[in-house]
Amino acid sequence: MTETVHASARALARVDLGAIERNCARLRAQLAGGAQLCAVVKADGYGHGAVGAARAALTGGASWLAVATAGEAEELRRHGLDARILVMGALTREDARATLAAGAEAVVWDPAFLRALPALLPEGAAPARVHLKLDSGMGRLGARERSRVLELADLVESEPRLELVGAMTHFATADEPGDEHFPLQLERFTALARELKARKPGIVLHAANSAAVFRDPASHFDMARCGVAIYGLDPFQGDPAERGLEPALSLSSYVARVERFEPGESAGYGRTWRADGPTLVATLPIGYGDGWRRGLSNRCDVLIRGRRHPLVGTVSMDNVTVDLGRESDVRVGDEAVLIGAQGAEAIRAEEVAARLGTINYEITCGLSPRVRRLWQAAGES
Ligand SMILES: *Cc1c(COP(=O)(O)O)cnc(C)c1O
Repeated sequence: MTETVHASARALARVDLGAIERNCARLRAQLAGGAQLCAVVKADGYGHGAVGAARAALTGGASWLAVATAGEAEELRRHGLDARILVMGALTREDARATLAAGAEAVVWDPAFLRALPALLPEGAAPARVHLKLDSGMGRLGARERSRVLELADLVESEPRLELVGAMTHFATADEPGDEHFPLQLERFTALARELKARKPGIVLHAANSAAVFRDPASHFDMARCGVAIYGLDPFQGDPAERGLEPALSLSSYVARVERFEPGESAGYGRTWRADGPTLVATLPIGYGDGWRRGLSNRCDVLIRGRRHPLVGTVSMDNVTVDLGRESDVRVGDEAVLIGAQGAEAIRAEEVAARLGTINYEITCGLSPRVRRLWQAAGES
């Protein structure tokens, strides 16, 4: 066997920015009545890299960006992104100060928080832009009664250093077609939306996440906040291609060793797998320290030379092992694909998620900083 020093990274996430662009263009075209697209790039763009994802999304037709934290808004500004940024999460006083200093927009549901905002504005800054949030049934953030939101609207209008720019809600079950909670939430928000539009026609109403965009055009209002779908991940955990989405991220490693195992010999901690006949075992230098979760031990596949091979044994922090079978043309240095396509085969994040009993969101978000990211611009490959 020839030993080669492999040129590629031990754990590499390739991010196809062209795919993000095209996914955004498709989502935008799907939105009712010319509603705007807000690209959600929180949690480092669901693991894809927030800055690259944000740029690609804006090129693809998104006109707003959304993040969860003030630090995420600051990062986008530091890299020169000047689109409107909505910070969706709860904010401490310091977070609120940073949000306003970044010229980003805050979500408000608490009168005390609202009253504190003007004093946190930088000297001579424009009024703080705020979005009011109704908790229509997510049970997480927001004011629970419509009347409360209307009171907040009055408060904003009475304070010249505050500007009412938006009103929003968030759905708990948009990804469960046929459930009865989604229409109920939509009805509650629609009632509020009518009243606010009557008072202030320029207000931007937004409710839909990715799943809601596909589920019901009545949820689109003036803007949709799409995260998972812009990355080409399916909000319903099915096949993204069926909704015209292209997965942007692939994850690869390489074969660092191939050895013949005799019956009874084991690979990895705890000896959770043993060869039941003579077989070849490949070692890939990627593990749970890279976000390839230990729960995948003995329960997922890896692509090498365009074929599926079972991951065997316990996932370690830095390595996994793969059963190649009795005979194999796999060689040290071969690329191994853990998420993505190779030849005619593909492993989607949705498949990996199902093996773990989780959702695709958690798979890409969970890739650790140790995984090298390689961003490919549109047209590159
Ligand atoms: C994360 C998030 C979104 C985006 O949801 P997706 O399902 O990824 O499209 C939208 N709105 C809020 C409030 C969020 O927290």
